[in-house]
Amino acid sequence: MTSYYELTSLSKTPGYPVKDWYEEAKRTWLCSGCSNPKPSIDALDAYLAYPPDDVPLNIISGVGIGYAQLRFVQHIKMNMLTDQFSFGKVFDPEGSEIPEYITFRSRNLLFIRGDSRSSFRQCGVCNRQLYHPIGKRHILSNDLIGSSIYESQIHQMVVDEQVFELVSRVKWRKMGSWKLPVW
Ligand SMILES: [Zn+2]
Repeated sequence: MTSYYELTSLSKTPGYPVKDWYEEAKRTWLCSGCSNPKPSIDALDAYLAYPPDDVPLNIISGVGIGYAQLRFVQHIKMNMLTDQFSFGKVFDPEGSEIPEYITFRSRNLLFIRGDSRSSFRQCGVCNRQLYHPIGKRHILSNDLIGSSIYESQIHQMVVDEQVFELVSRVKWRKMGSWKLPVW
């Protein structure tokens, strides 16, 4: 069995949405029950209120979207991502693109699981499954669909050992990585 690794931002500063964009999101693509994009939504552009922290992976607060440095995505090879992932642009409050960053969304979120204290519920609005892991983190072999890279439910990444080896060739700022046992 291949090993898997969780890759998560250690930045204390997530992306903060521009207020007008966030209000528009709430009117259109953001689920009011779980604050994630509605399941039918594919790639999304994002408008950030402040310049992004210089980290390879991060999240946008309150909207359930991850974003990444373009050079990080290019490093782990865009062609590995295209069948599962879709990408959007990142803009500053004035509407100028910040070309060093892109948003990413996967059709299949991989749940990082915890022990029996973990909470599990279904969103009453969009029916999405929501899982908050507590205790020792792991993944289930039944949840794997043969990808090298997954988006986790916290909108960061889980990668297999080949991709992890590739990632590890570069020292990335403020990115944590943990091996995830497969159960
Ligand atoms: Zn929902």
